[in-house]
Amino acid sequence: MNILVINAGSSSVKYQLFNMKQETVLAKGRVERIGMETAILVHEPAGKSDVSEVSEILEHTSAIRRVLDILVSKDHGVLDSIDQIDAVGHRVVHGGESFKNSVLVDEDVKKEIRRLFDLAPLHNPAHMLGITAVEVNMPGVPQAVVFDTAFHQTMPSHAYLYPVPMALYRKHKVRRYGFHGTSHKYVSERAAKFLGRPLEQLKLITCHIGNGCSCAAVLGGVSVDTSMGLTPLEGLMMGTRSGDLDPAIVPYAMAKEDLTLSEISSMLNKHSGLQAISGLSSDMREIVEAMEAGDKNAALAFDMYEYRIRKYIGAYAAAMNGVDAIVFTAGVGENSEVLRKKVCQQLTYLGIELDEERNRSGRGTEKAITTEASSVQVLVIPTNEEWMIAMDTYSLVQAD
Ligand code: ADP
Repeated sequence: MNILVINAGSSSVKYQLFNMKQETVLAKGRVERIGMETAILVHEPAGKSDVSEVSEILEHTSAIRRVLDILVSKDHGVLDSIDQIDAVGHRVVHGGESFKNSVLVDEDVKKEIRRLFDLAPLHNPAHMLGITAVEVNMPGVPQAVVFDTAFHQTMPSHAYLYPVPMALYRKHKVRRYGFHGTSHKYVSERAAKFLGRPLEQLKLITCHIGNGCSCAAVLGGVSVDTSMGLTPLEGLMMGTRSGDLDPAIVPYAMAKEDLTLSEISSMLNKHSGLQAISGLSSDMREIVEAMEAGDKNAALAFDMYEYRIRKYIGAYAAAMNGVDAIVFTAGVGENSEVLRKKVCQQLTYLGIELDEERNRSGRGTEKAITTEASSVQVLVIPTNEEWMIAMDTYSLVQAD
């Protein structure tokens, strides 16, 4: 069975085609700048050379058409016909309280995703464009939706409610949802395998540290808390997002700087975090490089970022009354040995003992970076959200 995984954004579509039996990626790629004359398709077929094409692609239906065309093209294709795609799985950011698991798309599911547009105005409308584009191009092919929020639907009410008037929750569903759920779920399952222990018996703290960053407390395989909230702005300091702050800053800064709501929202989402403190970049590679060259602002940005991760680890150890393993994943978590080292060096109270050589070597592989004697294991597990989406889609189609 071949499954196409789609991550549709407002002006982009990312895709990956999997052969489920062989557990291989047949091709992956992306279309960017949808809506423009200079849209670009970058296609990476397995065993053939990569290709990029610039052309006018004005909307998502044409973008998906182009992807399907190249998947079966003579020179760059990996399939004989699009009939060889058995199902499509979509990443959907917000599933609200309605979706606790991945589901097959039908009219009710589409209606519900549309109802959730308010909660994720930048993401869910784009995902719907992707679903409709697949319907038009591949009529009758089953589609599944996999939600970033679903894994965190197991949070208890004391973790997901904000201490504000309940009317906000009852009338407007203002609560914490959490994101990156597909990644937290994937690395939790892999961590249990790596440790050779049943997931049901483990207390894990998973740290997805990429451009967006979130931690989750995973108790017995279910999420009991996570750092992102109603939106992906809460929690850890990120590349360009502030993470936690005193909410009173919002009206205060608006008054003092004469900002509109959309300006302050843009400030907190796009011009804060590592970018704002370093004054340099939102990219951790550049921050570390500048810090090592003696840049004080880069060093401060790094320290704040690291400190906040460490505080969440402490909080989640408290939330679960202990921790068996801490998992680092995503761009920074998988690649920044400096960040992992700094975090671990201040967690000796948990009995963590870093193995510097393990921390340095084996990039891109699943590994422990602690010594055998360490009472809490720290793991690096490369995330694979696309594979998780393909797996969920596969299970749903098989069960149907
Ligand atoms: P997203 O949240 O967009 O999926 P990723 O998980 O791909 O992002 O993470 C992207 C971030 O990973 C980059 O902004 C960069 O800071 C960081 N990163 C990638 N490689 C390295 C590296 N070798 N060292 C430190 N940080 C890295």
